[in-house]
Amino acid sequence: MYRTHTCGELSASHIGSEVTLAGWIQTIRKFGSINFIDLRDRYGITQLLLGENLTDQLASQPLGREFVIQVQGKVIERTNKNPQLPTGDIEIDVTSYTILNKAITPPFTIQDDTDGGDDLRMKFRYLDLRRQAVRKNLELRYAVNRSARNYLHENHFIDIETPFLIKSTPEGARDFVVPSRMNGGQFYALPQSPQTFKQLLMVSGYDRYYQIVKCFRDEDLRADRQPEFTQIDCEMSFVEQEDILQMFEGLVKRIFKDVKGIDYTDKVARMTWNDAMLQYGNDKPDIRFGLKLANLKTIFEAQSGDASAKAMFEAAGFKVFNDAETVLAISIPGCSEYSRKQTDELTEWVKRPQIGMNGLVFIKCNTDGSFKSSVDKFFTEEQLKQLAGICGAQTGDLILLLAGREERTRKAASELRLYMGERLGFRKKDDFKLLWVLDFPLFEYAEEENRWVARHHPFTSPKPDQIPVMIGNDPVIKDAANYLSHPYANIKANAYDMVLNGNEIGGGSIRIFQRELQEKMFAALGMSPEEAQQKFGFLLGAFEYGAPPHGGIAFGFDRLCSILGGSESIRDFIAFPKNNSGRDVMLDAPSAIDEKQLEELSIKLRN
Ligand code: ASP
Repeated sequence: MYRTHTCGELSASHIGSEVTLAGWIQTIRKFGSINFIDLRDRYGITQLLLGENLTDQLASQPLGREFVIQVQGKVIERTNKNPQLPTGDIEIDVTSYTILNKAITPPFTIQDDTDGGDDLRMKFRYLDLRRQAVRKNLELRYAVNRSARNYLHENHFIDIETPFLIKSTPEGARDFVVPSRMNGGQFYALPQSPQTFKQLLMVSGYDRYYQIVKCFRDEDLRADRQPEFTQIDCEMSFVEQEDILQMFEGLVKRIFKDVKGIDYTDKVARMTWNDAMLQYGNDKPDIRFGLKLANLKTIFEAQSGDASAKAMFEAAGFKVFNDAETVLAISIPGCSEYSRKQTDELTEWVKRPQIGMNGLVFIKCNTDGSFKSSVDKFFTEEQLKQLAGICGAQTGDLILLLAGREERTRKAASELRLYMGERLGFRKKDDFKLLWVLDFPLFEYAEEENRWVARHHPFTSPKPDQIPVMIGNDPVIKDAANYLSHPYANIKANAYDMVLNGNEIGGGSIRIFQRELQEKMFAALGMSPEEAQQKFGFLLGAFEYGAPPHGGIAFGFDRLCSILGGSESIRDFIAFPKNNSGRDVMLDAPSAIDEKQLEELSIKLRN
């Protein structure tokens, strides 16, 4: 027997017992002829005391960091107790030890605050995984996994595996492809998600499916994405949107409870996509705090009765505002006393290339009732007061205003809002706020190709009352400049995203389940009937054999874990992640394959 106990197990109640432990040497501290060793395994750390009785053995069989050893000894009370450690009351008075395996000096310290940089830790990931901080992340991941499985099982979902070697079918991103040796010149694709399979399972009558499953997308890796990632993928039959929302907010609440001990009793907030874009500037708002955006131009238009406001705005002659497509304001409570240095800092912040604005205008609504701004040249104090009123600002607020092109300004305002939320401490890691974003547009306009693309994916249904709009209209966009007036531009999808603290953690939709509508959708996306048949014939065919109404959702499992674990990075929650260029630096993959393999696969490289 290698061990009687683990290194996280022994406490004062074991004092006097003879034990055998096995593990890795974390540290060795020498005091004259006595050595203290911290012995580590998955469960914790136990202090070993190696006294004079072992001096000879230590001389002939010296120990070092990360050696794997087995020790026999007696549990004794520690004189110097360590309340931080669960085993901190005791130590082992070692009578003998065996070196099970030596270790060369690791390239970085196996500590929570390791000295190893990212690249080095990824190259030696098996050592990095020994660190307690990383281990805790993987344990949390497993806890989320277990909790999800339990909930879904209790709700009659069954886990059905779907294949990884499938047909290349466009779903939004680029496919990873795998050459087939037996079918020379032909390729499988790795699934971007099991989307069509789970729908086929509904056609087959498995009315509650789930899978915790790898998905593969060959995307340019924006920050914190992985080419292979994991989803909690679910699908249900005979459901409407409301059924899905209820079932899956239940899932997330259960995970909160099981993994974090949080009773999320609040009603999950809901917001339309439109409101999210208007009030927060993006479709995954962090609703832990307010700081909503006010759009001055639309406010003027909406208040057309209040011509004086608009007239004032224009008469002020402030070109930056008058020429802008949009002017967005955020009122920050309690910040009217910001110093010059602080407002300069904010201006620099919005000018950074990632944000890309030319400048920032601010108005201080001082507590003494006066108003001061960075554009005092253009606006009288009375006008500033009027502007502040329009923005809905209160005494003591600092109003930040951004002006420019619609999309860029909206994105910048959304980022600035988050930045201010962070600065003011509104984004606490252990404060969780869930939100459903609903009523997305079904289509997005792709300017380069002058056609529609599916905002979610091509299997998402329109709102039932909008099916006639879709069926009854030609999807072709004749007047590109006015694409917004095309009837398709306003069709809303039967789709929903779940947002947690400003992150999209899940998304799904009620699906199309009739052949005619699915064909119309493919046509709307610019596919010829032949192309639709060639790519999705299997699904169109299945819809003719009695497909039930169905819908589903998929959660980004890695992301959910990282948020629950309080980390920015999903890589911290993946045992063997890829780096930002999609490489596994430990395996050195991807890599070239030899000529013989290429030949077997009937592949000739272009150069
Ligand atoms: N398959 C979809 C995705 O990966 C999720 C869904 O619609 O269920 O985004």
